[in-house]
Amino acid sequence: MKSRKSIETVLSHAGLRTDPATGAISTPIYQTATFGHPRLGESTGFDYSRTSNPTRLVLERMLADLEQGNRAFAFSSGMAAIASLMTLFKPGDKVLVSDDLYGGTYRLFEKIFKPWDLNADFVDFSNLPSVEKRIDRSVKAFFVETPTNPLMKIADLKKVGRIARAHEALMIVDNTFMTPFCQQPIPLGADIVVHSGTKYLSGHNDTLSGMVVAKMAGLAEKIGFTQNATGAVLSPFDSWLVLRGLKTLALRMDRSQENAAKIAIWLTKHKNVRAVYFPGLATHPGHRVHKAQASGPGAIISFRVAKSSAVRRIIDRVKIITFAESLGGVESLITYPISQTHADICAAMRDRIGVTDDLLRLSIGIESRDDLINDLDQAIG
Ligand code: PLP
Repeated sequence: MKSRKSIETVLSHAGLRTDPATGAISTPIYQTATFGHPRLGESTGFDYSRTSNPTRLVLERMLADLEQGNRAFAFSSGMAAIASLMTLFKPGDKVLVSDDLYGGTYRLFEKIFKPWDLNADFVDFSNLPSVEKRIDRSVKAFFVETPTNPLMKIADLKKVGRIARAHEALMIVDNTFMTPFCQQPIPLGADIVVHSGTKYLSGHNDTLSGMVVAKMAGLAEKIGFTQNATGAVLSPFDSWLVLRGLKTLALRMDRSQENAAKIAIWLTKHKNVRAVYFPGLATHPGHRVHKAQASGPGAIISFRVAKSSAVRRIIDRVKIITFAESLGGVESLITYPISQTHADICAAMRDRIGVTDDLLRLSIGIESRDDLINDLDQAIG
């Protein structure tokens, strides 16, 4: 971090002292579309809220600082952020993309960009030789999730970054699962970080948002240009909600991760659970790499039930955990990737990567750990 303060302090002060005119402790919501100019050729620094808005700017500066980037840009959703970013590339370019990833990102590449000849090649970034084999001159970027969604595969960000640089490809990391509180990809070699701010950054399942953070000023300028030109910006009120969420990010992550670590171990011992995917488990194949590059395991756990026929019963029976798609909020959710978040991934690829009908994903929140375990126990049977 540029700041010498600890990250907990920086987070709890999100937006503090940003309004010297009044001393407001909470960043004011500048609910305005446009700004008056003093006279011709003069500006207050703001012209039109698609280009920049004071509330959004406080959030963007905060994110740039947290991710150690040059500038950040707040979008109306994670998908809007990723879609806008992809306009940096041209027809004929190729992006190497994590093969196990959020289904909406897969859909964006396959259904929107492919017909425009911007192609994605889906690779396993936890297997570096297989990545090297897929590189050709058309590859202009890597798009990496670590841990991946939903199978929690881990990519070694330093090593992947070296490969990207050697081939003059941009390294883009989706840091949604980790947040800058746990993992900062830019110092590890990434050029760009993206987030679904809908998840942990805002943390209360009450707003959508997306973030792009650029390491270098030149790249930031291009991203700022496309954001203004394409226009899917975050509203002033939603910017304020994310800022408010950031104030408690450290507390929420600490608590959710502690809960998740205990629940993951509990799941490994359950007779009706066949496999548990959680990078905090010493048996997880990416455990060592993840521990070296992130300060915590995160709070997402995927698991396979012994019999896929049990899935419906589990979903029907949970009472404290809610059956819903999304993750990263204070309340725990259970998701069935095959029919929800990953339904748009073609069946052949889903089978290849292991998103099958026996797989469930948990987003662990901040409730009492005992209540969560009891809820799972009565549901899994
Ligand atoms: N990236 C990841 C890892 C996600 O899990 C999601 C949504 O679930 C997205 C991106 C898309 O974000 P949004 O839903 O805010 O558009």
